[in-house]
Amino acid sequence: MEKKNIDWANLGFGYHETDKRFVANYKNGNWDEGTLTSDDKVVISECAGVLQYAQTCFEGMKAYTTEDGHIVIFRPDLNGARMEDSCRRLEMPVFPKERFVDAVVQTVKANAAYVPPFGSGATLYIRPYMFGSSAVIGVKPAEEYQFRVFTTPVGPYFKGGAKPITIRVSDYDRAAPHGTGHIKAGLNYAMSLYPIMEAHRQGFDENMYLDAATRTKVEETGGANFIFVTKDGKVVTPKSDSILPSITRRSLVAVAKDYLGLEVEEREVCFDEVKDFAECGLCGTAAVISPVGKINDHGKEICFPSGMEKMGPVTQKLYETLTGIQMGRIQAPEGWIKVVE
Ligand SMILES: *Cc1c(COP(=O)(O)O)cnc(C)c1O
Repeated sequence: MEKKNIDWANLGFGYHETDKRFVANYKNGNWDEGTLTSDDKVVISECAGVLQYAQTCFEGMKAYTTEDGHIVIFRPDLNGARMEDSCRRLEMPVFPKERFVDAVVQTVKANAAYVPPFGSGATLYIRPYMFGSSAVIGVKPAEEYQFRVFTTPVGPYFKGGAKPITIRVSDYDRAAPHGTGHIKAGLNYAMSLYPIMEAHRQGFDENMYLDAATRTKVEETGGANFIFVTKDGKVVTPKSDSILPSITRRSLVAVAKDYLGLEVEEREVCFDEVKDFAECGLCGTAAVISPVGKINDHGKEICFPSGMEKMGPVTQKLYETLTGIQMGRIQAPEGWIKVVE
């Protein structure tokens, strides 16, 4: 198969239309079979549930080429299960996780020419999503839905090495207790746009959100979970019902325990103890781990000993081991790598 003529190394993180996308429709209580289509346009009622009351959720994952030339996806079954959870909480029909994985695989296969070659650092980003497509004017769930999967090639997350970022403690909340923080709902992102733009305007890369009820515990950023390393080498990651369960974070926890023999604590993390940690990173599909060098708490700075030049040593090891597993250099745990072709 001939690859598209794309300057992989210089791609950014943006939408670049590919050949095919998967579309399935839910009507009269059932999902249809779904199909691949070349049509990139969505046509829905002007009164669609998604447009009026934001009834939509999504997933994000990557397909990439391994060292031995296979196209693979990392743990798509977990994305499928998480999307089921998102749908239930938003009164949307579940698209079964087995069918989700099949739709993702079909879409990636159909766009194989856009999967960047091994070594380019680029990947094919996969975006499954669902939305209420039929008209609703009274506040209630839509009766019809569309599930779609599109792909878009994206460039290397870190161009020229992973430089630590600076984040600020946000005065805004990301998720209410018993709210929707644990699901990947579009609405969680809509309301995060103002705080992230404000953070950028003030010169910060990201927001650290604290728990909305007490503002004493670390939750996550707008799109990534935290992982900390203590001065004696333990990995600590916040536990909360209002955090989005990152698949990258769950995988890093397994890597820390089973591959690196590190002690891992998944527990509530008080903001007060953050100043005593040795390393801090943000984890999510896009970057795997983004090192945090500095946290600004209303003008008071917490500077991690790992500094502003490079990742801390434990973060680095976690990063190398997980990306090694993803790229096929290190034996993956059973079921982690889905081979597309
Ligand atoms: C998607 C997302 C993450 C990262 O999850 P991954 O499965 O690791 O990509 C973390 N936090 C939020 C709020 C997210 O939406």
